[in-house]
Amino acid sequence: MTQADFGTELRSTAALASLVASRTYIWYISPMTSEPPDNRYRRRFLVEFTPAESDLADRMGSVHGSKRRAIVNGLQLLDSGEVDALRAQVAALEKERDTAKASATKASEGLATAKERAAGAKEAAGDLRAERAAHAKTRSDLAQTQQEIASVRQALANAQAELQRYAAALPTMAYCPDCQKYVPRSEWAEQAAEGGVVHVYHSKHDYRPKGSITKYPSVLFWRGGAGR
Ligand SMILES: [Zn+2]
Repeated sequence: MTQADFGTELRSTAALASLVASRTYIWYISPMTSEPPDNRYRRRFLVEFTPAESDLADRMGSVHGSKRRAIVNGLQLLDSGEVDALRAQVAALEKERDTAKASATKASEGLATAKERAAGAKEAAGDLRAERAAHAKTRSDLAQTQQEIASVRQALANAQAELQRYAAALPTMAYCPDCQKYVPRSEWAEQAAEGGVVHVYHSKHDYRPKGSITKYPSVLFWRGGAGR
């Protein structure tokens, strides 16, 4: 097989395709003497590695016992489909993680909304309590006002009853010494005298608290004072 044939074959495996991209170092790969031959068939490849790829082949060779073993292991791994399965698993896990992250974000948002609602409800409850307290105060004030109105009405009724009693007790006619007859209340007049006394006299005459030789007094009666 020629070098070109080998290159064509390698290109069919995606992971090793890059190995032939740059021709810098040349490795001859042959079976190691430490590995017993499983059959007589052997084939040699001429592969060109870049410095980085050469380092990789060295490192993997020391890990897997030989560069040949490392490359064969790699090829077998690719052939087994485990890499694709792992990639699919990783993709599935990433998707699962993203879904979980989205759910967590959504839950977090829901929680924030719930917190906001709770805060709003708390505020509303506070307002309601304040409103209820205000209503209770208003009701209390109203009840007190109604009680005061009832009290005032009762006092007014008492006063009116008292007034009627006094009105009924007031004299309507008084005897005039000058006229020598009873005269109606509409003809009475008042004059303040000493000691808080009020003289009620017959307005038809002058105010005469005392009589003279020619005239009688015009005072009908006294009001107020000590009565002496
Ligand atoms: Zn008179």
